Amino acid sequence: MEKQGKRSNRLVLVPGSFQGHLNPMLQLGSILYSRGFSITIAHTKFNSPNPSNHPDFDFVTISDASYDSDLSSGNILTIISRLNVNCKAPFQECLARLMEKHNSVEEKISCIIYDEIMYFSAAVADQLKLPSIILRTAGAAAVLFRDATVPQAVVTNFLKGLGSNDIVPEFYPLRLKDLPFSKFGSLETMSKLVNELRKTGNSSAIIYNTVEFLEQSSLARIRQQCHLPLFSIGPLNKFAPALSSILFHEDISCMRWLDKQTNDNTVIYVSLGSITQIDENELAEMAWGLANSKQPFLWVIRPGSVRCSEWIEALPEGFKGAIGERGCIVKWAAQEKVLAHAKVGGFWSHCGWNSTMESLSEGVPMICRPNSGDQRVNARYISHVWKVGLELESELNRREVERAVRRLMVDKEGLEMRQNAMELKEKIQLCLKEGGSSYTSLNELVKFIKSF
Ligand code: UDP
Repeated sequence: MEKQGKRSNRLVLVPGSFQGHLNPMLQLGSILYSRGFSITIAHTKFNSPNPSNHPDFDFVTISDASYDSDLSSGNILTIISRLNVNCKAPFQECLARLMEKHNSVEEKISCIIYDEIMYFSAAVADQLKLPSIILRTAGAAAVLFRDATVPQAVVTNFLKGLGSNDIVPEFYPLRLKDLPFSKFGSLETMSKLVNELRKTGNSSAIIYNTVEFLEQSSLARIRQQCHLPLFSIGPLNKFAPALSSILFHEDISCMRWLDKQTNDNTVIYVSLGSITQIDENELAEMAWGLANSKQPFLWVIRPGSVRCSEWIEALPEGFKGAIGERGCIVKWAAQEKVLAHAKVGGFWSHCGWNSTMESLSEGVPMICRPNSGDQRVNARYISHVWKVGLELESELNRREVERAVRRLMVDKEGLEMRQNAMELKEKIQLCLKEGGSSYTSLNELVKFIKSF
């Protein structure tokens, strides 16, 4: 890896303004920096990363004029749509200034890499005659399914007659109910967004945070449909050094708690990511299910993630006494380190794509409790394609929770899932090494960018 030395190409990276989008883009930035590129991160004011955590990068703020009420609404579809309207002109100004600043042959801006949800970047790149590359932070199967079905569901009879548990033709094992309906808006609103995300316009290539063998058939179908070079270089978190937390403060005390646990593979780690919310009743059922399972657990409860509560004040009475030292609750954890810890043997996850890739790359089997967007597709792949997890589909109640935890952590079927997960981990490690698919694809991406 050439960290020092002359850097002739500068890349401007435009991350999506959410934790699950910032992570992969900053990881990509670190990887490309280590390959000799200079990196500028152009980010929104909303959910901005802290430059002092990334001394190798330059940072510029796109001064979007979004209304606070839109941003604080938590409605992701509204936020994405607002950012795309509001950021276009300021980004164009900002990029024009950067081009003036970096206009020598020694350090010209060679390309924009933008998160697909920041699609305003494509128009700006075109306007300024700069090449652009799309980063898709979801899995290939989820993107394929989304792009094929969401707009169709609105305008045609494509899905008519299917029951919610029926498999959508040509998308085995995905069912109608795995469609990425959003909790944040109607199918029409979702469809408008998907129409934007489907457009590849004049972009030169697409990067996926995935591994070729995990999603071979979906990647093949995407390649057939879109004819752009496609680089699958995941898991990005394994190529890049561990990130400091971007939007939340990590509580490292849970690492000491993990160290103190007696046996390997016994702790279930529970985290629903950076956006998912649950209600007080779900919190109580999760709590009693975990307590009754008798397994040790590390539970991330993000402040604000329980509706109508600040943090954990809604935990049921008697719960803390019942679990004693067997449970550890924190506001945010260093997830990659937690998943790599020998004591952790299972992950109860909402199945965001980053969490999925992180769990697969550490060989940790999962309890899937998807919530919205691409998470149902990921859960289906985890449970039915890679067979490294089980899905908790019923309404949350303590008996089902207890049963799911014991199935994963204690029963024979859980053992098989752990073995499958360990096999996948080894295969993923091979893909990252010289000659492996992600390693090769990353080299090709670097060559591709240098050819601009
Ligand atoms: N994460 C973390 N600590 C936590 C919970 C989550 O570092 O306590 C990170 C996790 O490692 C992942 C990201 O936050 O990289 C969440 O992204 P994901 O795509 O899984 O879900 P989202 O938050 O976008 O729903």
